[in-house]
Amino acid sequence: MTLQGRDKKHLWHPLTQHKLHPEAIAITKAKDCILTDENGNDYIDAIASWYTCMYGHCNDYITSKVSNQMQQLDQVVFSGFTHEPAIKLSEALINILPKNQNKIFFSDNGSTSVEIGIKMALQYHFNQGEKRNTLIALEDGFHGDTFGAMSVSGLSVYNGPFEDFFLEVKRIPTPNGKNHETILKILKHITEHHKVAGFVYEPLVQGAAAMKMYNANGLEQILKFCKTNNIITVADEVMTGFGKTGNYFASLHLETKPDIMCLSKALTGGLLPMALTTCSQKIYDAFYSDDIGKGLFHGHTYSANPLACTAALASIELLTSKEIQNNITRIVGSHQVFGAHIKKHPKVKSIRQSGVIFALDLNVEMERYGNLRDLLFNFYMERGVFLRPLGNTIYIQAPYIITEEQLEKVYKTIEDSLAIV
Ligand SMILES: *Cc1c(COP(=O)(O)O)cnc(C)c1O
Repeated sequence: MTLQGRDKKHLWHPLTQHKLHPEAIAITKAKDCILTDENGNDYIDAIASWYTCMYGHCNDYITSKVSNQMQQLDQVVFSGFTHEPAIKLSEALINILPKNQNKIFFSDNGSTSVEIGIKMALQYHFNQGEKRNTLIALEDGFHGDTFGAMSVSGLSVYNGPFEDFFLEVKRIPTPNGKNHETILKILKHITEHHKVAGFVYEPLVQGAAAMKMYNANGLEQILKFCKTNNIITVADEVMTGFGKTGNYFASLHLETKPDIMCLSKALTGGLLPMALTTCSQKIYDAFYSDDIGKGLFHGHTYSANPLACTAALASIELLTSKEIQNNITRIVGSHQVFGAHIKKHPKVKSIRQSGVIFALDLNVEMERYGNLRDLLFNFYMERGVFLRPLGNTIYIQAPYIITEEQLEKVYKTIEDSLAIV
């Protein structure tokens, strides 16, 4: 029996209604930008497997570093113990993070890194004898699937069964360049009526909202308002981190730096699951006390797994290399050329780009998981390109090592697909 056939017996897939989508494609191999399925078909991974494998799949440099580390130290408790991979990673990260970030807390997925950011923000105030119980978030944000992360995400139809159990969250509109005044009024109103602990946001690009890109100046004003009102700012850079927006982090494009940052996805170059919540000295100091109860009592069994730390360190070495930086510049340029060309197409409503993230909106209404979406997805796969349209948005976020030839094929396949919508 095929892997696809055997899969159906016991496996339950994420974000899947199995009755409507019974078939999973069995991938047997991945190298650089290419995924290979069990029938020998190749696909260009134009979304880097949810923006993780930015240095290419099974990257030789990362895998060799990790396989050496495997012979030395595999896993150890990170409460009371420490190790070189975690220390080296912290040193490398501090070099590239916004200057105010000074402490690094480990976990193992993006949702959890947000969960920890929220707990840090709430306990920051609690430790100073101030009970603040409300969070602010942007309307279209996505921050993960655990309860705290779901609470600060824009309400989605898929959250229905859980909404009664959410944290207290007030939503504000996403800055669009014209609504600063309105947003500041709403913020004032919220802070007058609620005790606001923190603001959670995806800086500049909202990934799951279909790569929505928004106004930096508007965000700057929100962040300044938060600083003035001692509202802890939590930048969720799980998607935008590690070079996507053309800078190491999206927060580096902004003047006002976040108090807390959440990182995952490209952190380990896709090799192993890991996440980080980083913070400024000010946040850390609020937990540093003779009172044990003021500590951050949060921990995961696999916190700072030495193999994942090694993969992350190797990934940062690649990210900061001349070669990858040149590749990023090349991809940014290619996207610009493609964008200028495709935006004139009658089926294209608009295009947008931030660094290596490129998105176009189609001139047609589409459901997020509807038939037209499936039609497009199949069109791409049949032509050897893995893209996942989000509603009527088609986006590219390919590995930094994608070749020009592969990129051209992705562009051409997208252009050809416009004929079927
Ligand atoms: C993917 C994502 C998350 C959730 O990360 P998981 O590892 O899937 O739990 C959180 N925030 C953003 C911005 C993301 O893109």
